[in-house]
Formats: sequence, structure tokens, C-alpha cells
Amino acid sequence: MRRGTPFAALAAIFAVQALADAQSVVAFPLYLAVVLVVALQQNRAESIAVAAVAAMAVLVRPIATGDASEVAPAVLLAGVLVAVAITMTELTRHMRNAASAEQRRLDGLVASERRLRATLESVDVGLGLAELDGSWIQVNDRLAAMLGRGRDAALQVTLSELARETERSDLEDGLNLLRSGDVLRWSAELDLARPNGGKLPVDLLVARLPGAAAGDGCLLVQVVDISARKRSDALRDCAAAMRQVILAAGGVEAAMPQLLAALCGYLDWDAARQWTLEPDRQAMRARCASNPNAVSTATVRSGAGLVGRVWQSGVLAAEEESVAFPILDSGEVIGVIELISDRARTPADDEVTMLANAGVEIGQFIRRSETTQALRRSEADHRAIYERSPIGIARISSDGEMLEANPALLHMLDHDEARMRASAWPDLLRAYDQAAARSHKPSFLAGVSDGGSIQVRAATGAGTWLWLQLTATPIPDQSGRPEHVLVLVEDVTAVRETSDRLAEALESQRDANANLEKLDRTKSEFLSIVSHEFRTALTGIQGFSELIRDGGLEADEVRAYGGYIFNDADRVNRLIGDMLDLDRMESGRMAMRTSDVDINDVLAEAVSRAVPSAASVEFKSDFDPRLPIVAGDRDRLIQVVSNLVNNAVKYSPEGGMVTMSSRVDGRYALVSVTDTGIGIPAEEIGHVFERFRRVRSGAAQSIPGTGLGLTIVKQIVEMHGGKIWVESAVGHGSSFHFTIPLAPEDANAMQLRHG
Ligand code: ADP
Repeated sequence: MRRGTPFAALAAIFAVQALADAQSVVAFPLYLAVVLVVALQQNRAESIAVAAVAAMAVLVRPIATGDASEVAPAVLLAGVLVAVAITMTELTRHMRNAASAEQRRLDGLVASERRLRATLESVDVGLGLAELDGSWIQVNDRLAAMLGRGRDAALQVTLSELARETERSDLEDGLNLLRSGDVLRWSAELDLARPNGGKLPVDLLVARLPGAAAGDGCLLVQVVDISARKRSDALRDCAAAMRQVILAAGGVEAAMPQLLAALCGYLDWDAARQWTLEPDRQAMRARCASNPNAVSTATVRSGAGLVGRVWQSGVLAAEEESVAFPILDSGEVIGVIELISDRARTPADDEVTMLANAGVEIGQFIRRSETTQALRRSEADHRAIYERSPIGIARISSDGEMLEANPALLHMLDHDEARMRASAWPDLLRAYDQAAARSHKPSFLAGVSDGGSIQVRAATGAGTWLWLQLTATPIPDQSGRPEHVLVLVEDVTAVRETSDRLAEALESQRDANANLEKLDRTKSEFLSIVSHEFRTALTGIQGFSELIRDGGLEADEVRAYGGYIFNDADRVNRLIGDMLDLDRMESGRMAMRTSDVDINDVLAEAVSRAVPSAASVEFKSDFDPRLPIVAGDRDRLIQVVSNLVNNAVKYSPEGGMVTMSSRVDGRYALVSVTDTGIGIPAEEIGHVFERFRRVRSGAAQSIPGTGLGLTIVKQIVEMHGGKIWVESAVGHGSSFHFTIPLAPEDANAMQLRHG
């Protein structure tokens, strides 16, 4: 309404009133209507201005006519107009304030609802409102997405149809509890059924919201996707289950089906296959499958198909409905595991990581199993060698105790294991140490590291003796310290005895050779001595007989020369006699003419024979007058004593003394011929009784002789059952002693006497 319009209207009414000359009370309703309209539509000042103008228009006529009866009602009417204007503007203002307050409240509500809706849509959980009967009132986009549908399609599904068939009854039960008011919140973990047949694990929370009336209300549904948590749980459980299988398994063959089953079961694959390298390493063949449907007889080549690509690249690869990962041993692909699903799926990063790790763990497991198997085989081989070896083997602890002995050793020593451990081995150990000490080797426990052998004598359980060769080898532990000792025991008795016999034969051969050499030497010495002796004698005989033949000699001279010739001939004769005697005695052809012989008598006769030719020495006799008679060959005994006396004289310088003594020595007569002559060098003493043996050093070498005398003397004494020996020191003299057994009755008598 334009600002001037009410005034125009008032002016028009006033004009009409004036023209009609009507009273103010007549025109009053018109003035009131204008004031009311203005008061409803315009502000307070304008309303009051219009009311004031209208009041003046009402007052103009009464004042102008001066009609006092008209003035009072006119004033009243003017007052009414102003009061109406004031009241109406106040009323309008109040109404306007109330309307704008209501408007603000409405705006706030709208904004709040918008915020709520935005919040509902932006949260990462699925939210929805449903009626108590389970039909949806509203779902947010997240929940629709979880259900795998658009929002409108999602609204068509009832609340209980959220769950898969198998879990639906649980959900129904929960909803019934909420409907009946028994519970206000119900929650569960379940799988959402999706139209593509897939499922989504979720945490479901349903809360009953109160309604206006009892038995009224709706349900707030909160759905949280827990597939990531579920998957990581499944991965962790799968890895743990596989580890458990590997730990408990006896071998790869037994474990592999369980490993494939664990992969399928925990990671929700429908089938699994293990591919392994063919022996020629040119192809892979499916060796093991999680279920009969997955068995395959096909082979793949490197680079061909999913499995071939994984084999070639050594890393996990996936196709729409399958994934394959390599089994790795030290970075080398030794097989592939293929997981198959009947719907499209893409493994998440953490699953890829888990599968790659599983490939490495399975590879290590296969390697360990192969190593263990090889170890077992090798141990069985060694055990067989140990059990069946023909050589005795014992295992000894580092402190020398026997731990184990193989059958060959027990058989060799004819002991059972207990005896072997308790006594036979300690004996062997002692024998080892003694033998080692003799050959300056370390004792068994001190040093078996050299691996050398030692031979010992050992008694068997059956009481026979064996030569055993022990070879000890220390077996170190991981730190290199000897953990135990392996002792190889060989029976070398036959070898040892043969070698001993061989050594004996060699020794006697050597002796025989030495004897032969000596004999040879002796023979040539003998020849030279004999020929020298003969030549000396013959030269004398020749010389003196020539002188006699040439004649012209005095009778005395002829007699003297004849005597020389006789002596020389006699020497030759004696030499020949000695040689023949010796030969007869050594060949056992010498006959003894045994009779009772008084040894003192023999000694006296020998001295009397020697004295005439031995003027340069003095003789002394020391005979035991009670010396019993002996049984012997008197002439031979005289030959013995004469020989010793002649030597005593021959090897004594002038003025020497020869002492003869006789005495009883037990059952023997003991005769000694002692001189103060040149003596015999110590190294020759043992040899003077050998034939043709002569001392060729010092004063002895210039004294003639044949070296036969003492040999014959020894033979004769021994033929009588006696012994002969010599004590001597160079420059001090020699003492020859010999014994002759007493006649048996004399011997007994002597025994009695001495007893
Ligand atoms: P021979 O004819 O050389 O005397 P024998 O057999 O009688 O031969 O003696 C052997 C050797 O023993 C002699 O060559 C001599 O060297 C030594 N012999 C023997 N008797 C004596 C003795 N009484 N004093 C020193 N040497 C002796």
C-alpha cells in the first residue's frame, strides 16, 4: 500500500461526508476501517498518523458547526480511532514477532535434519531405521553398499533377510526379543547375504527406539563391516595352523594335504593344488590336492599359464578366480601352490604377504624334511656298517668309559656287552696305555688325536690270547672338543704271529749267515794257521835233515839235529792229533774210557809233565786231600789239565807263578789253574773257548799257538758233564776253573757230610 493512499482515502471520506453533510458518527465506520487496515499493514508511526488525521476529520464538522452536542461524541469517536490504531499496531507487532520466532524455529529444525542426514550418510558404518515388523524405513548409502544393492533395492529387503539362510533364525530370534520388549539392544556377528552369492562378515547392532505409544516404536540398525578384521584373523589363524602342521608332521607327504586344507579352510578358497618339479626340472606336475575335485594329471612348463608364470617369475600371481604362489628354497622355486575359487576374488595385500611367507616356510620345511631324511638314511647306513663291520668298533666316552661295542668286537673277544664294559675294556685300556708308554706315545685319554695304531695282547672270554690293533679316533662335538672316541679293534694275531715267525726266521737266517761267515773266516784262518804250523815244522825238519844229509857233522850235532827234527815232527803229529780229536769229539765219535779217577793225581801228573820245560815259572799246588774220586777218562782229564798248565806257563812272563787247586763244590770237583801272566782282554774272555780263536792283541799275539787247545779242553770237560770258565784281568793273570761231577755215591756222601 502506498504511503499516501490512507490519507487519500481519509480525504475522500471527508469530502463525501462534507458533501453529504453527514454527521461524523455516520462517516466513523469508514474512518475506522481505514485506520484498521493501516494498523494491520503499516508500522506504528504511520498508523498513529493516519488515526490522528482520521480523528481530526471526525472533529472538523462538530467544531466547525459549533454544535456542542456533536462535539462530545466526535471527541469520543476520535479517541476511539486513535485507541484502535494504537491497540491494533501493538497487536500486529506481537503477531509478527510470534510468526518470525516460529519461522526461526522451523529453519533450525530443517538445518538440524539436514545435518543429521549428512551425518547418517557420511559415517562409515551402515545405519538404518526399520519398523518393528522388519521393513525398512530408511537405510544409508553405506548400508546399501554393504548389502550390495542400490538404496531403493535395499529398502525392499526386510531386516531378517540381511543374514544368510544359515544365520537367519538367530536374527529372527533377536528381532522377536526386541519386538516383545524383553531387550532393548541386540547384537551379533553374522555374514550379510549379498545378491552375488558372496557374504560380508559384519557386527550387527539393533536397538529399539521408543514410539509415541506403548507397543509402538522403530528399530535402529547399525551394521559394521568387520571383513578386514576377520581376514587378518583368518590369515593369522591360517599361518598358525600351517606352522602347527609343519611342527607336528612326520614328513612332507603327510603334511602337504593338511597344509592345503588349512589354506582353503582359513582363507575361504574352494580348492588348492601343490605343483612340484619333475625330476628333469623341465616341467611341474600337480602332486597333491586339497580335495578330489582339484586333482590334476596335467603338467605345466615354465612361463605357461598361471602356475608356469609363477614358476618363471618366482613371485605370487593372481587371475580372476585363482591365485598361485611359489614354494621357495633359498630363493629357488621348487614348487607352486595354486588356490582356486568358484567366484571372482582379488587377494588383499595382507593375504598376498601371508601367502608369500607361507611359500618360503613350506620351502624351508621341504628342505628340512629332505635333510632329515638324508640324515636318517645316512645314520641307518652308518648303523649298518657299525653292526655288520667285520672290524670291532667301540664308542668310548671322553673319560674312557665304554659306551657301546659292535657285535664284531663282542664276538672277537667272546664277551657279552656287560662284561666287555665292566672288565674287558678297562683291561684293554690299561694294555693300550702300557704299549703306548713303551713306544713313547701319549696314553689313550691324553692324546688319541694322532689317529695312530697300537697293538696290544688281550685275553678273550674263552681264555685264548689275541693280538689286537687299536686305532682311536676322537669324534669332536660342535665346539671341537672331543665328545667321544671311536676305537677300531682289529684281530691281527695271524698277521702278528706270521711276522714274528718271519722275524725269527730272519734272525736265524742272519745268525746262520753270520756263522757261515765266521766259519768261512775261521776256515781261512785255520788254513793259514795250520799251513804256517806245518811249514814251520817242515822247514825245521827240511833244514836239519839237509845238514845231516850233507854229512860232515859231529855225532853230537847229528843227535841234536835229530832231536830238533823229532820235535818238529812231534808238533805236526800233535797238531794233526788235536784236529782229529776235535773232529771226533764234535761229531760224537770220541769214545771215553771211563774209570775211577783221582783228580789230585791227575793234577800232580800234569804238573810233573810240565815242570821240565817250564823252568821260568814257579808251581804251587793247593789240593783238597779229601777230594773224592770222580768217574772219568783219566788220559783226557790229564790232557785237559796239561793244556791249561801249558797255557799258564806259555802266557806268563819269567818269574810267574802257576797255582793248581782242587776242592769239592757241591756235587762237583772244582779244579782251578791260576797264573800271574798277561791276562785276557775283557772283550775276548767270552771267545777263548771257540775253535782257532786266539787273542791277537798285546803280548799274546807274538806267542805261537793254534787256538785249538781250549776248544778241545771245553769239549772234554763237557763230555764229562762239567763246565769250564775263566776269570782274567789283563796284566794280572788268568784263572781257569772247571768242574767234573763226583761219582754218584760220593756225591751223596758229600751231600750228607755237608748237610
Ligand atoms: P793257543 O794254542 O793259541 O794257546 P788255546 O786254545 O790254548 O790256543 O788258547 C786260546 C787263546 O787263549 C790263546 O791264544 C791265548 O791268547 C788265550 N789264553 C789261553 N790261556 C791263557 C792264559 N793262561 N793266559 C793268557 N791267555 C791265555
